[in-house]
Amino acid sequence: MKVIQHTAEELRTALVSNSKDLAKIYSKYTKEERCLLEEGFHSGQPGSLFQPITVHSDSDWISAHPEEPQDFESFYRDSYRRTPDASHNTIYIQTIGSFGEVGALTDQYVEWLRDYCQAFFYGLSVKLLPAVTVSETGCSFRVNSNSNNLQILTGDLLRFLGNKKPKDAFCIVGITMIDLYPEDSWNFVFGQASLSMGMGVFSFARYDDNFYTRGYAGRLKKRIQPRRGDYSVFEGYYTPPITSTLLLRSCKTMTHEIGHMFGIGHCQWLNCVMQGSNHLEESDRRPLDFCPICLRKIHVSVGFKIAERYKALLHWMEEDRSQTSGPETASHPATCFPKPTEAFHTSQQWLRRCLDRLETGNRSHQTQEQSAQRHAGCTGVEG
Ligand SMILES: [Zn+2]
Ligand SMILES: [Zn+2]
Repeated sequence: MKVIQHTAEELRTALVSNSKDLAKIYSKYTKEERCLLEEGFHSGQPGSLFQPITVHSDSDWISAHPEEPQDFESFYRDSYRRTPDASHNTIYIQTIGSFGEVGALTDQYVEWLRDYCQAFFYGLSVKLLPAVTVSETGCSFRVNSNSNNLQILTGDLLRFLGNKKPKDAFCIVGITMIDLYPEDSWNFVFGQASLSMGMGVFSFARYDDNFYTRGYAGRLKKRIQPRRGDYSVFEGYYTPPITSTLLLRSCKTMTHEIGHMFGIGHCQWLNCVMQGSNHLEESDRRPLDFCPICLRKIHVSVGFKIAERYKALLHWMEEDRSQTSGPETASHPATCFPKPTEAFHTSQQWLRRCLDRLETGNRSHQTQEQSAQRHAGCTGVEG
């Protein structure tokens, strides 16, 4: 395992930038916000909120895809990056195909995803478009000759989303539980996006714990050659069970991919939701939220109070579960399902620590003297 440890100076430049105008904008953050953002300079130290990136094998993203690191300044000055404006400020989610056998649970699941994205991109509105079946998209599909599961063609889905995109959309994101392929010669793809058009399509099929096992129920029992345009194979087709892990992985993928729509590149600075990922183990290793550098990128694009965003995310994880998990009564029909947030536990604790820092500017377990030293190290307001 290799640890990518940038120096505090490198991280400061990546976050604040050496250019005067950007440093000036940076100085508008409150003292507490700056202290939180600058925690990243001490990554990996005991009690630090942010950790350095670790590379575990040659198949990890950073080893396999050398990319130019994107600091805050290069993001900010990128003339191709897209920013929501007054008439394009809604993120639309389009579900494609079934998300589960129980219709009500499916609806609930996509609502959870929507609510999560709304807290994550705090200040923007996130709306669900009415779900469509695979046949309604008119896309091409195939049976994968190795894994024998159904796959749908990403290019056709992007074309469909392009036609569906509402006028006030900042972006439109298609999600599906069916596996995807980008062209005949490819085995599969997790997703595909057109950043300039503000649209993307992503599959959660491979986030099923059983996907890579022999017993995966999405494999068709018999070898069939479905006819083009005959979508009957999708009727009653397997969808993964909705578990806490699936919800966590879906939330992580959605927000990572929507992050790209703002022009945020793959993070090479610190452990971050925007780190690239080549395989499931690597995406599971990524945290659920932004590092300080990527947080500043989304902050400048959307504009919010950092503490309010963290509170909204925490609220999503802690929402009174008794309201949805109680026995069936007149006011709580059986169509209510408890939100499975067990897998979000680490994230929940992390958010609480961030909020604690933002509210008190302190490390809760720190002595006053240590905290005074730390404050002295935060970037002061420029005159
Ligand atoms: Zn990515
Ligand atoms: Zn980052």
